[in-house]
Amino acid sequence: MERPLTQYIHPGCPPFDLREYEMTGGYAALRKVIGSMSPQEVQKLVQESGLKGRGGAGFNTGMKWSFVPMGENAPQPKYLIANADEMEPGTFKDRLLLEGNPHQLIEGMILAAYAIQADISYIFLRWAYKKAAQLLRKSIHEAYTAGYLGKNILGSGFSLEMHLHTGVGRYMCGEETALLNALEGKRATPRAKPPFPQVSGLYGKPTIVNNVETLCNLPHIVNNGAEWFKGLGNGKDSGTKLYGVSGKVNKPGCWELPIGVTVRELIEEHAGGMKNGYRFKGVLPGGASTDFLTTEHLDVKMDFVSVAAAGSRLGTGTMVVMDDATCPVGFVHNLQHFFAQESCGFCTPCREGLPWVEKMLLSLERGHGTAEDVEMLQMHTQLLGPGNTFCALAPGAMEPLQSALKYFREDFEKHVELHKCPYG
Ligand code: NAD
Repeated sequence: MERPLTQYIHPGCPPFDLREYEMTGGYAALRKVIGSMSPQEVQKLVQESGLKGRGGAGFNTGMKWSFVPMGENAPQPKYLIANADEMEPGTFKDRLLLEGNPHQLIEGMILAAYAIQADISYIFLRWAYKKAAQLLRKSIHEAYTAGYLGKNILGSGFSLEMHLHTGVGRYMCGEETALLNALEGKRATPRAKPPFPQVSGLYGKPTIVNNVETLCNLPHIVNNGAEWFKGLGNGKDSGTKLYGVSGKVNKPGCWELPIGVTVRELIEEHAGGMKNGYRFKGVLPGGASTDFLTTEHLDVKMDFVSVAAAGSRLGTGTMVVMDDATCPVGFVHNLQHFFAQESCGFCTPCREGLPWVEKMLLSLERGHGTAEDVEMLQMHTQLLGPGNTFCALAPGAMEPLQSALKYFREDFEKHVELHKCPYG
């Protein structure tokens, strides 16, 4: 089967092994970097490329690296972690990268580790990604055998150890500081920031946590340059993006496209439009913890800057489409059920507030809600919003709720008026 020479490998294709990866240019970026570039030059290149974190937050990757202490007096050891704990509802892009081309991630990790001069690296993998775990174990072994990992990589003097760590299936572990606690064998609750992990991370040492897709971009940036990467974007950001579409569309899936394609193009062209009998009502552009966009936003470009200007976030770029036959109250209740269940319980607003919100939505959906309940839900979007909780979990959970109350308020009010769900 013919394969695209992009970072994204079609799920139907068998995964690349080491030989195939090398035949398509794999590990050339590593050879180039350790042969001719200083760690600072790699950092500068990545910063200039404009690569932003693909885990959802969109922080400039090169800038994040630049906070890591460098030089002889820097604390040792330093750590590089690939965040592969992909658990955002509706998001499955990293799984395709892990299962399609594990060496691409490993090479990206070695490049990132070189740039910050890390000694030890971990892949923190979602528990449910069994196939990826198997492939990564095999690929890490292959990379050690080929001299790409371990002591004195390709005779360069640079050494890096790599370990695979599988989580136990908690959403919270994807938050970078909760992930660090989990890796240390502690309860996965978030840590206060600052200090940021770049300065004090795993076991108190400088640590970079980067998302899988972010790391998979690195070999291509090193091979082709910052200008090439910038030129790939369609909108206000650089590079390509793995976009996913799920919901009542004809061809749900995941595609690597220039960052900045419009919502319309993704739904109508790549996902084949809405299924017969269903009309588009709204979309969560980047996983469950983003604000709804609606029909007025169909021409918004799916890059970090444009989606933020439209009142939402690009997040993971994997969208969940809501159709006109789905009750927005029931839809949001389902999401709040997930978030309430996944709260780590560390801070009171999140631990107590999310189950309360979930219960109110359920009561509304069953026809027992009042107009005051709708107001109370609105109030909770503030109470659990940014600044009132210890981490981003509850504020993220409030994004679909606050935007549903903004765009689909009539649906909430109809439940009160009719004493039942109008969607049957
Ligand atoms: P964040 O904006 O706080 O941080 C993003 C990154 O930038 C972190 O690595 C952080 O250390 C760094 N950073 C931010 N501000 C900094 C500063 N002033 N100095 C130094 N470094 C700084 O976001 P977050 O809480 O890490 O992540 C939230 C995002 O995660 C959301 O956007 C959500 O979409 C996404 N998310 C993704 C998944 C998934 O499965 N991929 C799951 C849940 C949430």
